[in-house]
Amino acid sequence: MIVINMKNMATLVSCSLVAMVTNAAILPTTQTDSKWFKTSAEKVAEKTQQQHNQKKAKNVILFVGDGMGISTLTAARIYQGQQLQDNMGGEENFLSFEQFPHTALVKTYNTNQQTPDSAGTMTAISTGVKSKAGVLSVSDTSLRANCLSSKGNELITLVDLANEKGLSTGVVSTARITHATPAATYANTPERNWEADSDLSAEAAANECQDIAYQLVMRDEANALSVALGGGRRNFIPTTVTDGENKKGRRDDGIDLTKRWTEQFTNSAYVWDKVGFDAIDTTTTDHLLGLFNASHMEYEADRLNDTAGEPSLTQMTTKSIDILKKNDQGYLLIVESGRIDHAHHAGNAHRALIDAVELSNAVQAAVDNTDPDDTLIMVTADHSHVFTIAGYPKRGNPILGLVHNVDGKLATADDGKPYTTLGYTNGPGAVVGLRDDLSSIDTQEKDFIQQALIPMGSETHAGEDISLHATGPGSYLAQGVIEQNVIFHIINQAQSLGASKY
Ligand SMILES: [Zn+2]
Repeated sequence: MIVINMKNMATLVSCSLVAMVTNAAILPTTQTDSKWFKTSAEKVAEKTQQQHNQKKAKNVILFVGDGMGISTLTAARIYQGQQLQDNMGGEENFLSFEQFPHTALVKTYNTNQQTPDSAGTMTAISTGVKSKAGVLSVSDTSLRANCLSSKGNELITLVDLANEKGLSTGVVSTARITHATPAATYANTPERNWEADSDLSAEAAANECQDIAYQLVMRDEANALSVALGGGRRNFIPTTVTDGENKKGRRDDGIDLTKRWTEQFTNSAYVWDKVGFDAIDTTTTDHLLGLFNASHMEYEADRLNDTAGEPSLTQMTTKSIDILKKNDQGYLLIVESGRIDHAHHAGNAHRALIDAVELSNAVQAAVDNTDPDDTLIMVTADHSHVFTIAGYPKRGNPILGLVHNVDGKLATADDGKPYTTLGYTNGPGAVVGLRDDLSSIDTQEKDFIQQALIPMGSETHAGEDISLHATGPGSYLAQGVIEQNVIFHIINQAQSLGASKY
């Protein structure tokens, strides 16, 4: 009697695939029995079964890792793998969204910059139109920081379109919610730094450009955000008010926008700490504003040390979904992991990787709390950083550690000193003169600044492509090498937002 168990079935599948691919060439068992051979053959077999889901996406969740270039993904997946299992497993690990079926490479330049900033890149994603660095959802014909030039050049965003169709909308960020990336989803302004009214120039005030915080709150109920969670509380409260973490507001106009939020919208709530956040009943709250820090929220690595307590990106994501999913017509949720970028600017890989892993956790939570048949989930970045994975470290070498070669010996550079796997082309870790000897330094420590080549107070963005990962209805549209503004059109198409006719 022949008993076929599942293991044998898997072997049969692999064998038939080999026959198909190689015209029945006989491969040695040392090749076909290898785990590398089997798992990769299974991956291709799985791909041949994949169907394009052309259904309309009722819901769309777009995750943006600010500054999350490809090297950040690679290092973060190794870091996560090394935390979860033995060090050898790190390289084979996948971040949650790296398992998504569809991927594209994305060109990120702004209309006036080869290497972009977050304002121009998120404008491309939000409006389908590339624009200048520094401007938010106004067209390229606007001059930066010139209010008058932006008049009549305001662009309609995905949030506007979704609201117009009767969908619910939400924006979440670990940065200030008025910072460039989240702000491009709901505000139109020629200057990303006009976060509070006290930031406006005399020209901007004279020509009636509104600050970003004002634009977030002072919307018609029909075009209001259902969820806005992040940092940046100081931009919403007057200079005369001190917040719950003993920080002063920045508004000169005396308006408390947190109060306006609750006055303006039905079933609304404002929270500013973890206790308030946890107490929100999502069944009775339709408009939630959460501002958990005067400026940016904490890095995930430091979150538990926060004065008043902050929710994690994962917790903000799931609470947002719980509020938004009450709308039978569907929703659009945009979630930014805002501080991967900030840690990189500081030359601090440790915090950047932990924030990238937390983004991966938040994406997994979104997958777990939605129906794959009606929800398009996409993960991308706005731009990359000059962050590198270098040398020839052996498998399993701690990703934040000094390079040890395959023979286990500490690798040294031409100056006779050891070096880390992770580094930056420029930034605060550069030393003018002789390079520090890292032999007795703990490079895996949270505050370690990776060495860099070119001395700069703040490490810079990088100009190479970033990635787009997609799953769910319409996700097959994420393929090839695309301009960043195509992401808008993928969402428009998948969710039938009606921005243009195809
Ligand atoms: Zn940046």
